[in-house]
Amino acid sequence: MALSVFDIFKIGIGPSSSHTVGPMRAARNFARNLDTRGLLSQVASLSIHLYGSLAETGAGHRTDMGIMLGLMGEAPDTVDPAAIGGLVDAIERDQRISLWQHHTIAFNPKTAFSGRVQPLPEHPNGMRFMALDARGDTVLDERYISIGGGFIRALDSIETDETVPEHEPMPYPFANAAELMEQCQRHGLSIAQLMMANEITLRPADEVRAGVLRIARVMDDAIDRGCGLQGAFADEILPGGLKVKRRAPALYQELLSKSRAVEPGQVRPPAPANPDDVMFAMDWVNLYAMAVNEENAASGRVVTAPTNGASGLLPAVLRYYRTFIPGWSEAGVVDFLLTAAAIGFLYKENASISGAEVGCQGEVGVACSMAAAGLAAVLGGTVAQIENAAEIGMEHNLGLTCDPVGGLVQIPCIERNAMGGNKAINASRLALHGDGKHHVTLDMVIETMRQTGADMKSKYKETSRGGLAVNVVEC
Ligand code: SF4
Repeated sequence: MALSVFDIFKIGIGPSSSHTVGPMRAARNFARNLDTRGLLSQVASLSIHLYGSLAETGAGHRTDMGIMLGLMGEAPDTVDPAAIGGLVDAIERDQRISLWQHHTIAFNPKTAFSGRVQPLPEHPNGMRFMALDARGDTVLDERYISIGGGFIRALDSIETDETVPEHEPMPYPFANAAELMEQCQRHGLSIAQLMMANEITLRPADEVRAGVLRIARVMDDAIDRGCGLQGAFADEILPGGLKVKRRAPALYQELLSKSRAVEPGQVRPPAPANPDDVMFAMDWVNLYAMAVNEENAASGRVVTAPTNGASGLLPAVLRYYRTFIPGWSEAGVVDFLLTAAAIGFLYKENASISGAEVGCQGEVGVACSMAAAGLAAVLGGTVAQIENAAEIGMEHNLGLTCDPVGGLVQIPCIERNAMGGNKAINASRLALHGDGKHHVTLDMVIETMRQTGADMKSKYKETSRGGLAVNVVEC
């Protein structure tokens, strides 16, 4: 498995990894290919086709925004979220776009995009980019699929930057959980140590550590921004037309008021004002997750974990570790994320992390499994207990459908991350009370998730044609 921790945890923008970040990367790849092949100056117009789930929920997931940014050469991890609105407004106002920041053409977003509900045979999330010259002849024609978590795959043998660069063979390859555990046991390594040993075939250890801590910082910043700690929001209503209000800022203030006074300069709540409030930490985990997912819904800066729709769950559990577990450390944060990434690889390679392919069990379910494993690791779990935590984290998310109301990543997604965060903590605690022996293995539950996703009707897989999406009246 030649995946890196930085493939699973990608810094990007909301609201969707498969419907915003993936299309943005595909469009950027297309524009870059026009540039590197010397074709940019021939382009007079663009025709962009969306297929399957991208056609059905792309509008609510801001697929058009992602594609326009990508065509301009913007990348998800470096674009300034505060500048996005202005960039997109300018295209809509001027009806022009600057391809790869080098070649400006007429571009009307209302006519440049077309959608077809019938998906491409390769995947539910398909895209086709066609660049045409002044005579209407094709300059470049490329097809891509967005396979979840911001990963894309080019069809028709197109070059992309998705390819893993040449590297030494990883010392501890694994294709499934049984192999991962066997490698750990045979070599006396924790999952995090094994991941680090593999990762340093791609980059030096200090770069890996610094990169993982940067991921943690971006996750933390998203919590703080979502709580309103980095300035008031211009608008507390999330975009998209559902009129969903941000709840995290008010919840943050309420929870602070119920916390025991903190030392000057200390921003974290160490204890409830009411010592009988045994569920105190749960409220904070809810808050952390919702803060991030509200940021995601507002196209803010988040990390795929493993997707944007599930981007609040893992940061919430990581912040729980840093807030409520005495003796947390930066080394623990690195171990948490490396362990969680190993579990994410298993789902990505053996099932799917795409809501359009397997429903929300592939997004929030996988995030729950990853977070449960990460927490179990930093709480001192054995490899078997960590595997058990990951298994429990998914077992009780099996069958979870994807039915976003209005095609937006808001209802049920925001609350679902809060529920999933607390479920992950519970899964971790349950596993740590055992000795690692259990009936259902992680590999079994991953395969069950894959089969359940394959059997799930497409109306429950990010199409907004079933479930809450059709039973909630939009007003
Ligand atoms: S319901 Fe789950 S899978 Fe679907 S968009 Fe929301 S978070 Fe993603």
